[in-house]
Amino acid sequence: MTAKNLPLSSDKMLALAAKLPTPFHLYDGDAIERNAEEMKSAFSWAPEFVNFFAVKALPNVNILRLLAKHGFGADCSSLPELLMAEEAGISGNKIMFTSNDTPDEEFRKAFELGAILNLDDITHIEAVKRACGRLPETISFRFNPGPERTGNAIIGNPVEAKYGVTRAQLFDCYRIAKEEGVKKFYLHTMVASNELNGDYIVETARMLFSLVAEIKERTGVEIEAVDLGGGVGIPYKEEQNRIEWSYLGSEIGKLYEEMIVNKGLKPLLVSFECGRVITGPYGYLVTKVRHVTEKYKNYVGVDACMADLMRPALYGSYHHITVLGKENDAKDHVYDVTGSLCENNDKFAIDRPLPAISVGDVLVIHDTGAHGFAMGFNYNGKMRHAEYLLSEGKVLKIRREETYEDYVRTQLFNPEEV
Ligand SMILES: *Cc1c(COP(=O)(O)O)cnc(C)c1O
Repeated sequence: MTAKNLPLSSDKMLALAAKLPTPFHLYDGDAIERNAEEMKSAFSWAPEFVNFFAVKALPNVNILRLLAKHGFGADCSSLPELLMAEEAGISGNKIMFTSNDTPDEEFRKAFELGAILNLDDITHIEAVKRACGRLPETISFRFNPGPERTGNAIIGNPVEAKYGVTRAQLFDCYRIAKEEGVKKFYLHTMVASNELNGDYIVETARMLFSLVAEIKERTGVEIEAVDLGGGVGIPYKEEQNRIEWSYLGSEIGKLYEEMIVNKGLKPLLVSFECGRVITGPYGYLVTKVRHVTEKYKNYVGVDACMADLMRPALYGSYHHITVLGKENDAKDHVYDVTGSLCENNDKFAIDRPLPAISVGDVLVIHDTGAHGFAMGFNYNGKMRHAEYLLSEGKVLKIRREETYEDYVRTQLFNPEEV
Protein backbone atom coordinates (compact mmCIF):
# COMPACT_ATOMS: atom_id res chain seq x y z
CA MET A 1 0.00 0.00 0.00
CA THR A 2 1.17 3.51 -0.77
CA ALA A 3 -0.39 6.49 0.95
CA LYS A 4 -1.18 9.32 -1.45
CA ASN A 5 -0.10 12.28 0.66
CA LEU A 6 0.11 15.95 -0.19
CA PRO A 7 3.37 17.93 0.07
CA LEU A 8 1.63 20.59 2.20
CA SER A 9 -1.50 20.57 4.33
CA SER A 10 -4.77 20.64 2.45
CA ASP A 11 -5.38 24.22 3.63
CA LYS A 12 -2.00 25.39 2.41
CA MET A 13 -2.57 23.72 -0.95
CA LEU A 14 -5.95 25.48 -1.21
CA ALA A 15 -4.32 28.79 -0.36
CA LEU A 16 -1.73 28.25 -3.11
CA ALA A 17 -4.43 27.38 -5.62
CA ALA A 18 -6.26 30.58 -4.66
CA LYS A 19 -3.14 32.68 -5.11
CA LEU A 20 -1.61 31.18 -8.26
CA PRO A 21 -3.13 30.74 -11.71
CA THR A 22 -4.19 27.14 -12.19
CA PRO A 23 -3.29 24.65 -13.45
CA PHE A 24 0.26 24.45 -12.15
CA HIS A 25 2.78 21.87 -11.12
CA LEU A 26 4.19 21.76 -7.62
CA TYR A 27 7.27 19.65 -6.98
CA ASP A 28 8.29 18.69 -3.46
CA GLY A 29 11.99 19.51 -3.68
CA ASP A 30 12.74 18.44 -0.13
CA ALA A 31 11.25 15.00 -0.78
CA ILE A 32 13.18 14.75 -4.07
CA GLU A 33 16.40 15.50 -2.18
CA ARG A 34 15.64 12.93 0.55
CA ASN A 35 14.90 10.34 -2.11
CA ALA A 36 18.18 11.12 -3.89
CA GLU A 37 20.11 10.68 -0.64
CA GLU A 38 18.31 7.43 0.12
CA MET A 39 19.19 6.04 -3.28
CA LYS A 40 22.84 7.06 -2.88
CA SER A 41 23.18 5.55 0.56
CA ALA A 42 21.68 2.23 -0.61
CA PHE A 43 24.56 1.99 -3.08
CA SER A 44 27.28 3.33 -0.83
CA TRP A 45 29.02 -0.07 -1.10
CA ALA A 46 29.88 0.69 -4.72
CA PRO A 47 33.39 2.11 -5.27
CA GLU A 48 31.67 4.93 -7.11
CA PHE A 49 27.95 5.40 -7.61
CA VAL A 50 26.01 7.87 -9.67
CA ASN A 51 22.48 8.25 -10.92
CA PHE A 52 22.36 10.04 -14.24
CA PHE A 53 18.92 11.64 -13.92
CA ALA A 54 17.01 11.10 -17.17
CA VAL A 55 16.40 14.72 -18.12
CA LYS A 56 13.38 13.82 -20.22
CA ALA A 57 11.42 12.93 -17.07
CA LEU A 58 11.42 16.48 -15.70
CA PRO A 59 13.35 18.84 -17.96
CA ASN A 60 13.78 21.82 -15.69
CA VAL A 61 17.26 23.25 -15.07
CA ASN A 62 16.35 24.02 -11.44
CA ILE A 63 15.57 20.37 -10.84
CA LEU A 64 18.86 19.35 -12.47
CA ARG A 65 20.69 21.77 -10.15
CA LEU A 66 18.87 20.40 -7.14
CA LEU A 67 19.90 16.85 -8.05
CA ALA A 68 23.45 17.89 -8.93
CA LYS A 69 23.83 19.10 -5.32
CA HIS A 70 23.46 15.45 -4.36
CA GLY A 71 26.02 14.24 -6.87
CA PHE A 72 23.52 13.23 -9.52
CA GLY A 73 24.47 13.51 -13.15
CA ALA A 74 22.27 13.82 -16.22
CA ASP A 75 21.19 11.27 -18.78
CA CYS A 76 20.66 13.21 -22.00
CA SER A 77 19.45 12.09 -25.37
CA SER A 78 19.26 15.28 -27.38
CA LEU A 79 21.07 18.57 -27.88
CA PRO A 80 18.64 20.64 -25.79
CA GLU A 81 18.97 18.14 -22.95
CA LEU A 82 22.77 18.44 -23.18
CA LEU A 83 22.50 22.22 -23.10
CA MET A 84 20.23 22.07 -20.04
CA ALA A 85 22.70 19.82 -18.24
CA GLU A 86 25.47 22.29 -19.10
CA GLU A 87 23.32 25.16 -17.84
CA ALA A 88 22.87 23.29 -14.56
CA GLY A 89 26.64 22.94 -14.20
CA ILE A 90 26.71 19.24 -15.05
CA SER A 91 29.46 18.20 -17.44
CA GLY A 92 32.19 15.65 -18.10
CA ASN A 93 31.55 12.13 -16.93
CA LYS A 94 28.48 13.30 -15.02
CA ILE A 95 26.65 13.33 -18.36
CA MET A 96 25.60 10.10 -19.97
CA PHE A 97 24.67 10.71 -23.56
CA THR A 98 22.30 7.86 -24.34
CA SER A 99 20.89 8.75 -27.71
CA ASN A 100 19.83 6.82 -30.76
CA ASP A 101 19.58 7.79 -34.42
CA THR A 102 21.93 10.58 -33.32
CA PRO A 103 22.76 13.61 -35.48
CA ASP A 104 26.46 14.49 -35.83
CA GLU A 105 26.10 17.86 -34.10
CA GLU A 106 24.80 16.14 -30.96
CA PHE A 107 27.77 13.79 -30.85
CA ARG A 108 29.99 16.87 -31.22
CA LYS A 109 28.32 18.76 -28.35
CA ALA A 110 28.42 15.72 -26.07
CA PHE A 111 32.08 15.17 -26.99
CA GLU A 112 32.86 18.82 -26.28
CA LEU A 113 31.22 18.55 -22.85
CA GLY A 114 33.30 15.46 -22.11
CA ALA A 115 30.10 13.43 -21.72
CA ILE A 116 30.15 9.66 -21.81
CA LEU A 117 29.04 8.74 -25.31
CA ASN A 118 26.81 5.74 -24.90
CA LEU A 119 26.66 4.29 -28.40
CA ASP A 120 23.46 2.69 -29.54
CA ASP A 121 24.89 1.00 -32.58
CA ILE A 122 28.09 -0.53 -33.92
CA THR A 123 28.00 1.87 -36.88
CA HIS A 124 28.09 4.80 -34.48
CA ILE A 125 31.77 4.17 -33.83
CA GLU A 126 32.41 5.47 -37.35
CA ALA A 127 29.74 8.14 -36.93
CA VAL A 128 31.49 9.55 -33.85
CA LYS A 129 34.86 9.52 -35.63
CA ARG A 130 33.32 11.41 -38.52
CA ALA A 131 31.50 13.88 -36.27
CA CYS A 132 34.23 14.51 -33.69
CA GLY A 133 37.42 13.75 -35.61
CA ARG A 134 38.32 10.93 -33.24
CA LEU A 135 36.85 8.70 -30.57
CA PRO A 136 36.79 10.01 -27.00
CA GLU A 137 38.96 8.44 -24.31
CA THR A 138 35.90 6.85 -22.69
CA ILE A 139 33.14 5.10 -24.53
CA SER A 140 30.04 3.17 -23.58
CA PHE A 141 27.94 0.70 -25.47
CA ARG A 142 24.26 0.04 -24.97
CA PHE A 143 23.56 -3.68 -24.88
CA ASN A 144 20.29 -5.10 -26.15
CA PRO A 145 19.92 -8.61 -24.73
CA GLY A 146 17.37 -9.63 -27.37
CA PRO A 147 15.93 -13.06 -26.60
CA GLU A 148 17.96 -13.34 -23.36
CA ARG A 149 15.45 -11.11 -21.53
CA THR A 150 11.70 -10.91 -21.75
CA GLY A 151 11.56 -7.14 -21.29
CA ASN A 152 8.55 -5.84 -19.44
CA ALA A 153 5.08 -4.86 -20.51
CA ILE A 154 5.82 -1.18 -21.01
CA ILE A 155 9.16 -1.24 -22.74
CA GLY A 156 8.30 -4.33 -24.76
CA ASN A 157 10.30 -7.28 -25.97
CA PRO A 158 14.01 -6.48 -26.45
CA VAL A 159 14.03 -8.35 -29.78
CA GLU A 160 11.56 -5.78 -31.12
CA ALA A 161 13.46 -2.83 -29.66
CA LYS A 162 15.38 -0.50 -31.93
CA TYR A 163 17.91 0.21 -29.19
CA GLY A 164 21.33 -1.12 -28.45
CA VAL A 165 23.79 -3.60 -29.94
CA THR A 166 23.27 -7.34 -30.07
CA ARG A 167 25.33 -9.76 -28.03
CA ALA A 168 27.32 -10.76 -31.11
CA GLN A 169 28.07 -7.11 -31.99
CA LEU A 170 28.94 -6.12 -28.44
CA PHE A 171 32.30 -7.92 -28.32
CA ASP A 172 33.27 -6.46 -31.70
CA CYS A 173 32.32 -3.01 -30.45
CA TYR A 174 34.80 -3.23 -27.58
CA ARG A 175 37.50 -4.81 -29.78
CA ILE A 176 37.18 -2.06 -32.38
CA ALA A 177 37.04 0.74 -29.80
CA LYS A 178 40.16 -0.65 -28.12
CA GLU A 179 42.03 -0.84 -31.44
CA GLU A 180 40.98 2.75 -32.09
CA GLY A 181 42.67 3.85 -28.88
CA VAL A 182 39.75 4.15 -26.47
CA LYS A 183 41.03 3.85 -22.89
CA LYS A 184 37.94 3.47 -20.70
CA PHE A 185 34.91 1.35 -21.36
CA TYR A 186 31.41 1.48 -19.95
CA LEU A 187 28.63 -1.06 -20.40
CA HIS A 188 24.98 -0.03 -20.42
CA THR A 189 21.56 -1.53 -20.84
CA MET A 190 17.97 -0.37 -20.45
CA VAL A 191 15.43 -3.16 -20.43
CA ALA A 192 12.69 -2.03 -18.08
CA SER A 193 10.20 0.77 -17.74
CA ASN A 194 8.04 1.52 -14.73
CA GLU A 195 9.02 -1.85 -13.25
CA LEU A 196 7.78 -2.49 -9.72
CA ASN A 197 9.40 -5.89 -9.31
CA GLY A 198 12.80 -5.23 -7.76
CA ASP A 199 14.07 -8.64 -8.77
CA TYR A 200 13.78 -7.70 -12.42
CA ILE A 201 16.24 -4.85 -11.83
CA VAL A 202 18.52 -7.16 -9.83
CA GLU A 203 18.52 -9.60 -12.77
CA THR A 204 19.68 -6.77 -15.01
CA ALA A 205 22.66 -6.26 -12.70
CA ARG A 206 23.40 -9.99 -12.83
CA MET A 207 23.33 -9.91 -16.63
CA LEU A 208 25.72 -6.95 -16.82
CA PHE A 209 28.14 -8.24 -14.16
CA SER A 210 28.33 -11.53 -16.01
CA LEU A 211 28.99 -9.72 -19.29
CA VAL A 212 31.82 -7.76 -17.66
CA ALA A 213 33.63 -11.04 -17.06
CA GLU A 214 32.83 -12.34 -20.53
CA ILE A 215 33.97 -9.15 -22.25
CA LYS A 216 37.29 -9.36 -20.41
CA GLU A 217 37.70 -13.01 -21.36
CA ARG A 218 36.84 -12.54 -25.01
CA THR A 219 38.37 -9.14 -25.79
CA GLY A 220 40.78 -8.33 -22.99
CA VAL A 221 38.81 -5.15 -22.30
CA GLU A 222 38.33 -4.35 -18.63
CA ILE A 223 35.01 -2.59 -18.11
CA GLU A 224 35.19 0.48 -15.82
CA ALA A 225 31.51 1.09 -15.27
CA VAL A 226 28.15 -0.56 -15.63
CA ASP A 227 25.02 1.49 -16.11
CA LEU A 228 21.82 -0.35 -15.25
CA GLY A 229 19.64 2.15 -17.07
CA GLY A 230 16.38 3.51 -15.74
CA GLY A 231 13.03 1.86 -15.41
CA VAL A 232 12.55 1.65 -11.65
CA GLY A 233 8.80 2.07 -11.36
CA ILE A 234 6.57 4.01 -9.03
CA PRO A 235 3.31 2.96 -7.36
CA TYR A 236 0.76 5.10 -9.18
CA LYS A 237 -2.00 3.14 -7.45
CA GLU A 238 -2.52 3.04 -3.70
CA GLU A 239 -2.53 -0.75 -3.71
CA GLN A 240 0.93 -0.92 -5.31
CA ASN A 241 4.23 -0.85 -3.44
CA ARG A 242 7.43 0.96 -4.28
CA ILE A 243 10.71 -0.88 -4.69
CA GLU A 244 12.78 -0.03 -1.63
CA TRP A 245 16.20 1.42 -2.47
CA SER A 246 17.63 -0.58 0.42
CA TYR A 247 16.41 -3.81 -1.21
CA LEU A 248 17.91 -2.96 -4.62
CA GLY A 249 21.12 -1.75 -3.01
CA SER A 250 21.67 -4.81 -0.88
CA GLU A 251 20.69 -7.38 -3.53
CA ILE A 252 22.83 -5.78 -6.23
CA GLY A 253 25.61 -5.33 -3.66
CA LYS A 254 25.61 -9.07 -2.98
CA LEU A 255 25.92 -9.82 -6.69
CA TYR A 256 28.73 -7.29 -7.00
CA GLU A 257 30.63 -9.02 -4.21
CA GLU A 258 30.06 -12.44 -5.72
CA MET A 259 30.54 -11.67 -9.42
CA ILE A 260 33.05 -8.80 -9.47
CA VAL A 261 35.00 -8.64 -6.20
CA ASN A 262 35.35 -12.41 -5.64
CA LYS A 263 36.32 -12.95 -9.29
CA GLY A 264 39.15 -10.44 -8.97
CA LEU A 265 37.66 -8.14 -11.60
CA LYS A 266 38.44 -4.44 -11.71
CA PRO A 267 36.27 -2.32 -9.34
CA LEU A 268 33.31 -0.85 -11.19
CA LEU A 269 31.54 2.45 -11.14
CA VAL A 270 27.89 1.45 -10.76
CA SER A 271 25.25 3.75 -12.17
CA PHE A 272 21.61 4.09 -13.03
CA GLU A 273 19.83 6.55 -15.25
CA CYS A 274 16.56 6.64 -13.40
CA GLY A 275 14.19 9.48 -14.10
CA ARG A 276 10.65 8.53 -13.15
CA VAL A 277 11.39 7.20 -9.66
CA ILE A 278 13.50 10.24 -8.79
CA THR A 279 10.87 12.92 -9.31
CA GLY A 280 7.64 11.18 -10.34
CA PRO A 281 6.03 10.69 -6.91
CA TYR A 282 6.96 14.22 -5.84
CA GLY A 283 5.09 16.13 -8.54
CA TYR A 284 1.49 17.34 -8.16
CA LEU A 285 -0.68 18.85 -10.87
CA VAL A 286 -3.08 21.29 -9.23
CA THR A 287 -6.23 22.13 -11.15
CA LYS A 288 -9.56 23.81 -10.48
CA VAL A 289 -13.02 22.52 -11.30
CA ARG A 290 -14.84 24.65 -13.87
CA HIS A 291 -17.98 22.66 -14.48
CA VAL A 292 -19.79 19.68 -13.02
CA THR A 293 -22.42 18.17 -15.24
CA GLU A 294 -24.54 15.13 -15.95
CA LYS A 295 -24.88 13.73 -19.47
CA TYR A 296 -24.96 10.00 -20.15
CA LYS A 297 -22.22 10.04 -17.51
CA ASN A 298 -21.17 12.43 -14.77
CA TYR A 299 -18.43 14.84 -15.75
CA VAL A 300 -16.08 17.07 -13.83
CA GLY A 301 -14.46 19.58 -16.18
CA VAL A 302 -11.19 21.01 -14.90
CA ASP A 303 -8.86 23.76 -16.10
CA ALA A 304 -5.99 21.37 -16.82
CA CYS A 305 -6.11 19.19 -19.90
CA MET A 306 -4.17 16.49 -21.66
CA ALA A 307 -1.71 19.16 -22.81
CA ASP A 308 -0.65 19.52 -19.15
CA LEU A 309 -0.46 15.79 -18.45
CA MET A 310 -0.72 13.36 -21.30
CA ARG A 311 -0.17 10.00 -19.59
CA PRO A 312 -3.81 9.08 -18.87
CA ALA A 313 -4.88 9.87 -22.44
CA LEU A 314 -1.78 8.37 -24.02
CA TYR A 315 -1.46 5.12 -22.08
CA GLY A 316 -4.65 4.95 -20.03
CA SER A 317 -2.42 5.49 -16.99
CA TYR A 318 -3.93 5.78 -13.55
CA HIS A 319 -3.14 8.92 -11.55
CA HIS A 320 -4.59 9.25 -8.09
CA ILE A 321 -6.79 12.32 -7.52
CA THR A 322 -7.35 14.14 -4.23
CA VAL A 323 -10.16 16.67 -3.84
CA LEU A 324 -8.73 19.26 -1.47
CA GLY A 325 -10.72 19.69 1.71
CA LYS A 326 -12.72 16.54 0.98
CA GLU A 327 -10.03 14.00 1.82
CA ASN A 328 -12.21 12.29 4.40
CA ASP A 329 -15.51 12.42 2.52
CA ALA A 330 -17.04 9.21 1.22
CA LYS A 331 -16.16 8.48 -2.40
CA ASP A 332 -19.78 7.93 -3.27
CA HIS A 333 -19.86 9.61 -6.68
CA VAL A 334 -18.46 8.34 -9.96
CA TYR A 335 -17.02 10.83 -12.43
CA ASP A 336 -15.05 11.21 -15.60
CA VAL A 337 -12.57 14.02 -14.95
CA THR A 338 -12.01 15.86 -18.21
CA GLY A 339 -9.99 18.65 -19.77
CA SER A 340 -11.12 21.06 -22.47
CA LEU A 341 -9.34 19.76 -25.58
CA CYS A 342 -11.40 18.86 -28.61
CA GLU A 343 -10.41 15.25 -28.12
CA ASN A 344 -12.61 12.79 -26.28
CA ASN A 345 -9.62 11.04 -24.73
CA ASP A 346 -8.79 14.25 -22.86
CA LYS A 347 -9.66 12.66 -19.52
CA PHE A 348 -7.61 12.37 -16.34
CA ALA A 349 -9.87 9.68 -14.94
CA ILE A 350 -12.73 7.55 -16.19
CA ASP A 351 -15.45 6.20 -13.89
CA ARG A 352 -13.49 7.32 -10.84
CA PRO A 353 -15.13 7.08 -7.42
CA LEU A 354 -14.68 10.49 -5.78
CA PRO A 355 -16.47 12.59 -3.18
CA ALA A 356 -19.22 14.89 -4.43
CA ILE A 357 -17.49 17.64 -6.41
CA SER A 358 -18.62 21.24 -6.89
CA VAL A 359 -17.49 24.04 -9.18
CA GLY A 360 -14.44 25.75 -7.70
CA ASP A 361 -13.11 22.64 -5.94
CA VAL A 362 -9.39 22.10 -6.33
CA LEU A 363 -8.12 18.72 -7.47
CA VAL A 364 -4.60 17.46 -7.01
CA ILE A 365 -3.44 14.88 -9.53
CA HIS A 366 -0.67 12.82 -7.98
CA ASP A 367 2.59 11.32 -9.25
CA THR A 368 3.00 13.77 -12.10
CA GLY A 369 6.64 14.67 -11.40
CA ALA A 370 7.89 12.64 -14.36
CA HIS A 371 6.57 12.71 -17.93
CA GLY A 372 4.00 15.27 -16.79
CA PHE A 373 4.99 18.78 -17.81
CA ALA A 374 7.65 17.14 -19.98
CA MET A 375 5.15 15.63 -22.41
CA GLY A 376 3.11 18.81 -22.66
CA PHE A 377 2.08 20.33 -25.95
CA ASN A 378 0.18 23.27 -27.39
CA TYR A 379 -2.70 21.65 -29.25
CA ASN A 380 -5.84 23.78 -29.30
CA GLY A 381 -3.68 26.76 -28.34
CA LYS A 382 -3.15 25.50 -24.81
CA MET A 383 -0.35 27.35 -23.06
CA ARG A 384 2.13 25.52 -20.91
CA HIS A 385 1.51 25.96 -17.19
CA ALA A 386 3.97 27.21 -14.58
CA GLU A 387 6.11 25.00 -12.34
CA TYR A 388 6.81 25.60 -8.65
CA LEU A 389 9.29 24.01 -6.33
CA LEU A 390 8.69 23.51 -2.65
CA SER A 391 12.04 23.95 -0.97
CA GLU A 392 12.73 24.39 2.74
CA GLY A 393 9.19 25.59 3.37
CA LYS A 394 9.22 28.12 0.52
CA VAL A 395 7.37 27.84 -2.77
CA LEU A 396 9.61 29.00 -5.62
CA LYS A 397 8.55 29.63 -9.18
CA ILE A 398 10.89 27.62 -11.39
CA ARG A 399 9.18 28.08 -14.73
CA ARG A 400 6.78 30.83 -15.68
CA GLU A 401 3.59 30.11 -17.55
CA GLU A 402 3.73 30.40 -21.30
CA THR A 403 2.07 33.42 -22.87
CA TYR A 404 0.32 34.01 -26.16
CA GLU A 405 3.38 36.03 -27.23
CA ASP A 406 5.61 32.99 -26.63
CA TYR A 407 3.21 30.84 -28.58
CA VAL A 408 3.09 32.96 -31.72
CA ARG A 409 6.68 34.19 -31.66
CA THR A 410 7.76 31.75 -34.38
CA GLN A 411 5.07 32.90 -36.85
CA LEU A 412 4.39 36.60 -36.37
CA PHE A 413 6.54 38.08 -39.12
CA ASN A 414 6.00 38.83 -42.77
CA PRO A 415 6.09 35.59 -44.76
CA GLU A 416 9.51 35.31 -46.37
CA GLU A 417 10.44 33.61 -49.58
CA VAL A 418 12.85 30.76 -48.98
C1 LIG B 1 13.70 7.00 -20.44
C2 LIG B 1 15.07 6.56 -20.25
C3 LIG B 1 15.61 6.49 -18.97
C4 LIG B 1 14.83 6.80 -17.73
O1 LIG B 1 13.83 5.87 -17.52
P1 LIG B 1 12.91 5.97 -16.23
O2 LIG B 1 11.86 4.97 -16.52
O3 LIG B 1 12.41 7.35 -16.17
O4 LIG B 1 13.76 5.62 -15.07
C5 LIG B 1 16.93 6.13 -18.84
N1 LIG B 1 17.68 5.83 -19.91
C6 LIG B 1 17.19 5.88 -21.16
C7 LIG B 1 18.07 5.54 -22.28
C8 LIG B 1 15.86 6.23 -21.38
O5 LIG B 1 15.39 6.27 -22.62
